[in-house]
Amino acid sequence: MKKVKEYINTSVLTKIVIALAVLLTLVALFLVVTKNAPLTAGDGVESGDTCKTVVVVSSGDTLSGLLSKQGLNHNQINEIASVLKSNGITGLRADRDKIEFVRATDADPVNKIVVIPSPWRQVELTCDSAGAWQCNTVEVERNTRAVYKSGVILDGDSFYLAGMRAGIPAGILADVYDLLAFEMDFERDIRAGQHFSVLYEENFASGAHVDNGHVLAVSFDALRGNVKMYRFKKKDGSVGFYDEKGNGAIKSLKRTPINNAKVTSSFTTRRKHPVLGFTRAHKGVDFRAPTGTPIPAAGAGRIVKRGYNSGHGNFVRIRHNGSFETLYAHMSRFAKGIGVGTTVRQGQIIGYSGSTGLSTGPHLHYEIIKDGKHVNPLTVKLPAINNLDSANKAKFLEYRKSLDAGIEYLNAHPNMFIVL
Ligand SMILES: [Zn+2]
Repeated sequence: MKKVKEYINTSVLTKIVIALAVLLTLVALFLVVTKNAPLTAGDGVESGDTCKTVVVVSSGDTLSGLLSKQGLNHNQINEIASVLKSNGITGLRADRDKIEFVRATDADPVNKIVVIPSPWRQVELTCDSAGAWQCNTVEVERNTRAVYKSGVILDGDSFYLAGMRAGIPAGILADVYDLLAFEMDFERDIRAGQHFSVLYEENFASGAHVDNGHVLAVSFDALRGNVKMYRFKKKDGSVGFYDEKGNGAIKSLKRTPINNAKVTSSFTTRRKHPVLGFTRAHKGVDFRAPTGTPIPAAGAGRIVKRGYNSGHGNFVRIRHNGSFETLYAHMSRFAKGIGVGTTVRQGQIIGYSGSTGLSTGPHLHYEIIKDGKHVNPLTVKLPAINNLDSANKAKFLEYRKSLDAGIEYLNAHPNMFIVL
């Protein structure tokens, strides 16, 4: 934090850049500063601590077990547990939570415990002179930058490869996939020469990059036209993604439930069946998926069928609303807890791909049924989950213009970022 501030305050060049950016983006909220090399993260050792032990919680650890190992007695453990509980910490998460134990010297008892449930929050317990534990929660100051990455699909590329080459972090790329999957088919819509870009958040603490935040905007030159999506917070505080015109971009169903799965057979009213040998309609789309690939629900809904038939093999059928249903066939097995009547959310794993039923190899056969009729999942018009009312739409369009101006600026100056 300090280092970043100093940097901003002392660099004349940076000040010029800030002024330029404000002018260019027309939004006083955005400041653009020159991108400096990421600083290495300090491990947060405080001066004055003479002895500190850091424990990363591993599977099977309990709070009382860890405290007991540090020499704390039964009464102290109970008191500490109840103080932590009243500060929202009821359990420890393996491989995520860290605990620091501080002593005056090696020979002294623990007089300070710091529980670190996230890089952004620390809960400090200090033993006072009377032996009671006082609690203090520290929120780590977070500085967020918007950074822009763009790339192009090369011959024989997948979007994943091109995205990695463009320097988009894997987690952000996964989010981008999830968003674009509402509009695109990653097998058929990918061509050499297509450009894509993403604006996303990077979170910094004390000048060091800690993690990445949200995807703010995505653009992809799809075959059906340029797909753009923007993250926008409505007046009521709820957040969604919208296209350029402010129409909800999150659809009730995904066209391709498994990200980046190759289409091996498309929807047709007539085709020669690979097993039966005679011509019949293919009422869905087949996606290549090695046995055991998790199959996410294409949309939120309720399981109305889970069973086996000779054609579909193991299959699940979900009712999403009054008019839409989806069906997933040839599963090797169903996910735990998935049965008729189960309510599922979009993206929840309902089963695993396989080759049961009439199938020549492991794949997912996916159907969308609209008002009782099979439709082509890759082309059917899907309803948006969340559309904007006129007041929010006006606000969105204004916001989008300023974001586009910021993106245009960053596109021309790839070493810059926007301070949010
Ligand atoms: Zn099929």
